[in-house]
Amino acid sequence: MITRGPRQLLAEVQQPGLCIGCGSCVELCPYFRSHGGKTVMLHDCDLAEGRCHAWCPKTELDLEGLAQTLWGRPYPAQGMGPHLAVVAAKAGPRLESGSYQGGGTVSALVCAALDEGLVQGAVLTGGQGLQTAPRLAATPEEVIACAGSRFTAAPTLAALNRAQAQGCGSVAVVATPCQAAALAQRRAKPWPQRGAAGPAELVIGLFCNWSLDPQGLASFLAQRVEPREIRSMDIPPPPAGVLKVETGQGSLEIPLDEIRGLIPPACGLCPDMTSEWADLAVGMYEGRPGWNTLVVRNEKARALTEAAVEKGWLVMEKFPAANQEHLLQAAQGKRSRGLSAALAQGLLGGPGDDQPKALRVGSELYKAVENGEVA
Ligand SMILES: Cc1cc2nc3c(=O)[nH]c(=O)nc-3n(C[C@H](O)[C@H](O)[C@H](O)COP(=O)(O)OP(=O)(O)OC[C@H]3O[C@@H](n4cnc5c(N)ncnc54)[C@H](O)[C@@H]3O)c2cc1C
Repeated sequence: MITRGPRQLLAEVQQPGLCIGCGSCVELCPYFRSHGGKTVMLHDCDLAEGRCHAWCPKTELDLEGLAQTLWGRPYPAQGMGPHLAVVAAKAGPRLESGSYQGGGTVSALVCAALDEGLVQGAVLTGGQGLQTAPRLAATPEEVIACAGSRFTAAPTLAALNRAQAQGCGSVAVVATPCQAAALAQRRAKPWPQRGAAGPAELVIGLFCNWSLDPQGLASFLAQRVEPREIRSMDIPPPPAGVLKVETGQGSLEIPLDEIRGLIPPACGLCPDMTSEWADLAVGMYEGRPGWNTLVVRNEKARALTEAAVEKGWLVMEKFPAANQEHLLQAAQGKRSRGLSAALAQGLLGGPGDDQPKALRVGSELYKAVENGEVA
């Protein structure tokens, strides 16, 4: 796994427009800051190797190295990441009502993790209108206040760095796949010699096909709606093909084709739809409103879901095999598109390639992508 410094981070990620603004490098040092959804470097820094570069999800994301280190096996051409179970889930009776995006599974799991003492706090992404506001939540009320999806990329991980710097030792993070990849970089490459920032105790991932550029979306919507009037957004399952925006004056449906140009280029290189690097992953349950799809990836996650059900935070049911197959196909489609796009742009590396690359895979997978066999 290759680590370079902040100048290389600028050259490999910022300048080619691949920064997703996840906040991983923000507040690790005085130099990187987040503003209006963009990450900026305030001063030059000639450090040869830095956490900013080591933990960035958009450069030197060595899928093969991470899989060997964290999963103990190669990164496969097929699949949707390791998992023990895929279930249907929703919030249980113990969670008060809120503006949950789906069934409130994420909020319920966060509350259960706090209740069980597994973590002291949870880094979430709240915000009003089009603003995203990363927050450290420690109570169910604070968790509920962040419910719902903001479909723009958010600097969530800056709040993790801040929380750890302030002494919050064990933290959960609710993360999109790119943020979960940044957190996997931390698990695989801890940096104990410098500061408190490091891995998260628990990562609850979200399914994600793409996000939208915050400034681009703000300008686009400003022609149609007063941004402060925006209450929530949703992307209903196919065949709807729209972004639904709920405002104080009713709802607005925007065809997805009109906003595809607002998807950051970095999303096109992402091979992960189901937050494969997280401990658990949650998405919508197509065809069953009020429920979520929940992927339980490891034993820590299994213990949390069992405790959450026992204490009334969560309800789980069987997930039909046909839906699971559909999910796998969707995940595989994103992996194939992401790896193929990286190859086409010269950003996919194999072992022994010492040029900077956004993604790295093992030699067999590299050949399979070259031959168009990852589909
Ligand atoms: C950008 C984006 C794209 C998505 N795309 C898909 C998709 O293609 N298919 C699918 O099935 N699901 C997708 N989701 C996930 C889905 O919208 C729900 O978040 C998920 O189903 C959990 O629902 P819930 O009711 O359990 O969440 P809730 O209990 O309402 O909790 C939602 C959590 O999401 C977090 N959050 C909100 N916005 C962001 C953000 N921008 N970045 C990081 N965290 C955030 C909040 O911290 C909150 O804790 C996407 C989510 C996002 C943020």
